[in-house]
Amino acid sequence: MAAEVIDGKQISGQVRERVRDGVAADVGAGRRAPGLATVLVGDDPASHVYVANKRKACEEAGIRSIHHELATDVAEDDLVGLVRALEADPEVDGILVQMPLPSELDPDRVLAEISPAKDVDGLTPANAGLLAQGKIGVAEALELDSDAPVAGLIACTPSGVMEMLRVTGVPLEGAEAVIVGRSTLVGRPLASLLLSANATVTVCHSRTRDLVETCRRADVLVAAVGVAELVRGDWVKPGATVIDVGINRTENGLVGDVEFDGAAAIAQAITPVPGGVGPMTIAMLLANTLRAARANAYA
Ligand code: NAD
Repeated sequence: MAAEVIDGKQISGQVRERVRDGVAADVGAGRRAPGLATVLVGDDPASHVYVANKRKACEEAGIRSIHHELATDVAEDDLVGLVRALEADPEVDGILVQMPLPSELDPDRVLAEISPAKDVDGLTPANAGLLAQGKIGVAEALELDSDAPVAGLIACTPSGVMEMLRVTGVPLEGAEAVIVGRSTLVGRPLASLLLSANATVTVCHSRTRDLVETCRRADVLVAAVGVAELVRGDWVKPGATVIDVGINRTENGLVGDVEFDGAAAIAQAITPVPGGVGPMTIAMLLANTLRAARANAYA
């Protein structure tokens, strides 16, 4: 039986609508619109597409987009200076520095300039630490209907994956969840979120010995690797849910980290690429920006 294809566009549309409604309510109450600053360095075509999509989504949600583009050979001090200025600007609620930066620039030095309050990517040690300790979860990430103070901001792709699993009705309590990939952006924060949802979590990486066998145990299998179609159909346990985070540009267009047709023949449910996790990431970024604006009390 062919798997259910989880529609990231549709699920992200619901989140975006909630953000739009929240922004409209705040603006209707006399507040200024939330502001998201994006910083794009260099000419990586994929990064340009990602940032353009994020800015368009902001506009549609009523969030003000403040955009800065810098040349590949920008001095690191100048980039740091820009992030400091955005940090000091009371009308900027969130700061997103698009990764990866050109190799001459130190991403850690740049990210260190972003305060946890404006860290809409959830990458600062303070926010990542709260998540790792289970102090914040996806419920907080989607607390959009009230002005409750923000406990912390969570990385957008992992929280988007959790929202997809929730809407799809995938049981997580006691489930075997296997994540392939241990990045600070995806694999690690997602492991924390799945643990908080009471799944039994295994994180695989490039040195994992029995990768295929480990994947075959998974009730929920997440691929966040960056290797086109690494995960094959026969790695998938019958009835599993497969979440494909990967975005790989190949001669045959965009493909994920999962060989879709093979996996879809075995799985219960699967996310497509494109149209799966990607749109969720953007929706959760908008949600983080609204929450950050409220926490900043729209200063
Ligand atoms: P990364 O390069 O930072 O991390 C990749 C991880 O995969 C590493 O932990 C590494 O150990 C592991 N790995 C690499 N080769 C492996 C192998 N052969 N077997 C097992 N593990 C292996 O990547 P990332 O930032 O986590 O991104 C992963 C993928 O997800 C990329 O394709 C990226 O473009 C995509 N991505 C998509 C979204 C989205 O919104 N859909 C967001 C972020 C990243």
